[in-house]
Amino acid sequence: MKKISIVVPCYNEEETVEAFYQACERVLPDLNRLNGETYEFEYIFVDDGSKDSTAAKIQVLNEVNPHCHYIIFARNFGKEAGLYAGLKHASGDFVTVMDADLQDPPEMLLEMVTYLESGEFDCVGTRRADRDGEPKIKSFLSDLFYTINNKISKTNIVNGARDFRLMTRQMTDAILDLSEYNRFSKGLFSWVGFRTKYLPYKNVERVAGETKWNFGSLFKYSIEGVVNFSDTPLKLATIAGFLFSFGAAIMIVIYAFRAIFGYVDSKGFTTIVCLILLLGGIQLIAIGVLGEYIGKIFLETKKRPIYIARLKDEGINERGN
Ligand code: UDP
Ligand code: MG
Repeated sequence: MKKISIVVPCYNEEETVEAFYQACERVLPDLNRLNGETYEFEYIFVDDGSKDSTAAKIQVLNEVNPHCHYIIFARNFGKEAGLYAGLKHASGDFVTVMDADLQDPPEMLLEMVTYLESGEFDCVGTRRADRDGEPKIKSFLSDLFYTINNKISKTNIVNGARDFRLMTRQMTDAILDLSEYNRFSKGLFSWVGFRTKYLPYKNVERVAGETKWNFGSLFKYSIEGVVNFSDTPLKLATIAGFLFSFGAAIMIVIYAFRAIFGYVDSKGFTTIVCLILLLGGIQLIAIGVLGEYIGKIFLETKKRPIYIARLKDEGINERGN
């Protein structure tokens, strides 16, 4: 019998976890009628320091069904940490990561499992086919992120890819081998490679509760994506430096000759001020870019744990690697 692990990071999801569990329970038995395989299931709910009753809700689920495991964090560590903790405790042959808000339709698992069972793929991911119900500006900015990221980074991320995916044990272990502190899962999933099939699906609204993302956090998230997988921004500073120095060298020659032949410019105050501001700005941006990378190194070298669990149910174990 094969085991499928369902990893669910939850932050303030008291209104949705129960509905999520019920929806999965309705769909999962169908998997056993699919390919002549029988599956057993385990849920790993990770409570990411919720301020509502999410932790209590998932503990109740564990009492009702011992295959529902829980890990409760000591504070909010972010979804990426939740995913990592869940994967680290998942023992299934296939592992899926899903949001608690039912934006990742459990019905899709049927098709996903079929693809993995065919042996042609190691991972089946999902991608939003449309962005209905989303503000135009958000869609525009997110398209811009994918375009820029895929241009400057060797790790391509499929436009609209969600974290929702089903992976083999082998791929899950590969992800866990990447024990970096600064985690950008979409990039990690792509970085490890493996044969991945993307299923497009229609965007669905969350069943209840509200999204944890706002414009600022999405912007930070996109910077994470670029900085964690590409060093191109660092090189851009070097290129800009060379271009401006080259320009300056030519100007020095031109103005030296003009001075020698008696053309002394007394005007030009505006030009100088503009140039100082422009160059100062570019230098600050370059230092800022450098800072982003140094900040990452700083956090990485401390080797702090990615998450701290306050409580776990007795039935789960961490996979040693
Ligand atoms: N989440 C989490 N920690 C956080 C923020 C979010 O574990 O700090 C979980 C959240 O409970 C949900 C999933 O990550 O299961 C996706 O969050 P959300 O629905 O807010 O994101 P969206 O679907 O809007 O991208
Ligand atoms: Mg959501």
